Amino acid sequence: MLDNFYNVLLKSREQISRSLKLFSNQKLSTKQLEDLEEKLIETDMGYDTVQDILSLFQNSFEDKLSGDIRSYLVKSLSVDFNFKNKNNQTVILIVGVNGSGKTTSLAKIANYYKKKGKAITIIAADTYRAAAVEQLQIWSEKIGCKIVHNKNSKEPSSVLFNGLDSAKTNKSDIILVDTAGRLHTHGNLMLELEKMQNIICKRFPEFDHYSLITIDASLGQNSLIQAKEFKKYCNLKGVILTKLDGTAKGGIIFPLYKKLNIPVRFIGIGEKLSDIATFDPELYVDGLLGTKTGKI
Ligand code: GDP
Repeated sequence: MLDNFYNVLLKSREQISRSLKLFSNQKLSTKQLEDLEEKLIETDMGYDTVQDILSLFQNSFEDKLSGDIRSYLVKSLSVDFNFKNKNNQTVILIVGVNGSGKTTSLAKIANYYKKKGKAITIIAADTYRAAAVEQLQIWSEKIGCKIVHNKNSKEPSSVLFNGLDSAKTNKSDIILVDTAGRLHTHGNLMLELEKMQNIICKRFPEFDHYSLITIDASLGQNSLIQAKEFKKYCNLKGVILTKLDGTAKGGIIFPLYKKLNIPVRFIGIGEKLSDIATFDPELYVDGLLGTKTGKI
């Protein structure tokens, strides 16, 4: 796990840690502070986080600086998830824009829980994209879990209802629902998400339920706007931050917490079923700063 985080954050680390290292052994002039500010803003960490780091540069003792930055960043990501399940059966609705990694992440999470001994049902409720259903069928066979789909239906809520009914009968522990990709500007599709949530809450109140949004880390600040809009329609309880491998925009996680108060639950670190990790603030920050050994 430690190496997963460390390796995958290489590009982000190169950007963030290089800027910090460049300035960390000296008292900074106003010009140097401005240069550092500019470099840190480029990492997508967000204005507030950058200002807090600059203030640490001005106020921390030299030998404490890297430890103080690390502690501050870890604390920023250590939000209490309040994510305890009351009941045995939990429905997880996966939402997000097209191409952000919904279907892939759903399969990875199914595989993750299956390996923990949980009984899984996948509900393929993306009725707009036949390829998504086919992809999930292949994955469900590979994982060894149930899947409910209806290729003839164009009505996601009906597929959802049938899937939940079936998961209730077969006593699945985790029920993962794939939804069609949508832009936050698609009013009707956003209302459809609301409808799906209502079906879960009102028709199956015995299930715990929450939604996770897939955010493509490589989109940087744009992903914040998406998440903000989805939050208006969905009971978003977490983010799956995808495609962290290959992007230098790993700093985007800070504004996600600060501006939206949505915690990251999983990170996507590749295209394979096993390329997912549960989120750990300390490992993440060490991966960003290069503090695996304690120092920047
Ligand atoms: P959806 O449209 O939101 O369902 O997106 P998909 O799950 O179909 O994923 C879109 C593309 O992103 C596919 O080519 C996936 O293999 C790829 N993908 C998804 N998650 C990751 C990830 O964590 N890392 C990388 N490198 N690729 C990913």
